[in-house]
Amino acid sequence: MAEFDVDLFVIGGGSGGVRAARIAAGHGARVMIAEEYRMGGTCVIRGCVPKKLMVYASHIQHEIEDAAGFGWTIPQATFDWPTLIANKDREIARLEAAYTANVEKSGARIAKTRVVFEDPHTLRLATGEAVTAGYVLIATGGAPNHGQAIPGIEHVISSNEVFHLETLPKRIVIQGGGYIALEFACIFAGFGTDVTLIYRGENILRGFDEDVRSHVRAEMEKEGITILTGCTVNKVDRHGKEFTSHLSNGSSVASDQVMFAIGRHPNVANLGLEKAGVAINPENGGIAVDHFSKTSVDNIYAIGDVTHRINLTPVAIREGHAFADTVFGKQQVRVDHANIPTAVFSQPEVGTVGLTETQARVEFSHVDIYKASFRPMKATMSGRDTRVLMKLVVDATTDRVVGCHIVGDGAAEMVQLLGIAVKMKATKADFDATMALHPTAAEELVTMRTPTARHVRQAAE
Ligand code: FAD
Ligand code: NDP
Repeated sequence: MAEFDVDLFVIGGGSGGVRAARIAAGHGARVMIAEEYRMGGTCVIRGCVPKKLMVYASHIQHEIEDAAGFGWTIPQATFDWPTLIANKDREIARLEAAYTANVEKSGARIAKTRVVFEDPHTLRLATGEAVTAGYVLIATGGAPNHGQAIPGIEHVISSNEVFHLETLPKRIVIQGGGYIALEFACIFAGFGTDVTLIYRGENILRGFDEDVRSHVRAEMEKEGITILTGCTVNKVDRHGKEFTSHLSNGSSVASDQVMFAIGRHPNVANLGLEKAGVAINPENGGIAVDHFSKTSVDNIYAIGDVTHRINLTPVAIREGHAFADTVFGKQQVRVDHANIPTAVFSQPEVGTVGLTETQARVEFSHVDIYKASFRPMKATMSGRDTRVLMKLVVDATTDRVVGCHIVGDGAAEMVQLLGIAVKMKATKADFDATMALHPTAAEELVTMRTPTARHVRQAAE
């Protein structure tokens, strides 16, 4: 590929792009990677990592409250938002530097600039320089949706801004019922903010198991979060430092911040995709790709959120790695998108892998459900009013566990490991044969013996 300046040009220094650049360079490719904002991308700079640090910070409030039942007297604790934000920013800057160093160590060159396509093999940098490449990988990620242009939309923040608020809001309105809305509703509630969540549908977390949806909603309401369903924010007024959100049901809510977390769209605009001939998937607005992440153009691939398949960091990383191995490592690697474990870092957490009960009942003729809702041992002493939900969905014909759903502390950690069992096609008998580890919450997963429900599909269904 000597006729090109580089063998591979990666657009986007996020989770997927960085992994692809490093692996391709390791295979001997001459690689350039462009990043217009900060190396590390959404996950590191304004996504998973700062979010999880804030989850830890807000959860400490629970620990303090729970301490009294165990005999601890803790003097009035105080929380300083600017300290949290400054320490979080320092950690993010450290990670950004580590990402930069690791890419450079791999031999790939970094261009800190925005780039667009001139043609399928030529990229134009914002500096004006043109670089030609044998292959191009589009890893430009996504960005927050703002929804309709309602009056006052300019007062509304997204997850991009929420990490940099100068002060902790005393009251916040959050619109959305998905991952980001729930995570930030719980983060702010933990800090003592009065939180109102506005969701347009009947219940939050559409697409998750129905029992999970109702359980997590009840738990959040017990924590004092107001959840208003069946309505949207239609207008936002500002009066000095206060905002009024006018809702579609005619009511209004006053707050110090208004945040929308209503999904994200793939970063495909103004990239020059038409000059390169790269097609968009009409179903989801992301870049259309095949099973190897190849676009409609032979030398151009796309991975991660810009393809709008499953928008999670480990997925972007795996897709980036598979691309590099396939194109530069002489091995055809196809990413398996089935049974991806996922968690919502609400408080309590949601962890899930595999099928919901509803999905399983469509797919299989005989479905057994094993479900337990119980008070965790810690709550017996702390007095906290909380319950854990554990649910296994079993294809009764093969005995395979096809879905696991947990709401409770540690759910994400548990589901990461359950993911291995589900991926290995473990049966309910395998779960039963596994000795319990006592005393844990997770032991419930191997001690539920009797189905709480059995579903047999009728011929007409
Ligand atoms: P990104 O990480 O978005 O990287 C794309 C990069 O491309 C960006 O840095 C952007 O600046 C750059 N770019 C775009 N256009 C250009 C251009 N033309 N030229 C140069 N550079 C360009 N996922 C999880 O798995 N777990 C979580 O807990 C989690 N929490 C999240 C919390 C929040 C608040 C958000 C917003 C997301 C979260 N996600 C989480 C999702 C996760 O962040 C994304 O799935 C992941 O970052 C996608 O990686 P990517 O490489 O596809 O894109
Ligand atoms: P989600 O898709 O999870 O949720 C979007 C929410 O906004 C849904 O409740 C949706 O309602 C609602 N909504 C969509 N459009 C509108 C509208 N026009 N008006 C009012 N409400 C609307 O997106 P998020 O923004 O929360 O997060 C984006 C993605 O980032 C996630 O899907 C996930 O892939 C990733 N992520 C992962 C995390 C993790 O792994 N822990 C954490 C954060 C993000 P409805 O359900 O009715 O469509």
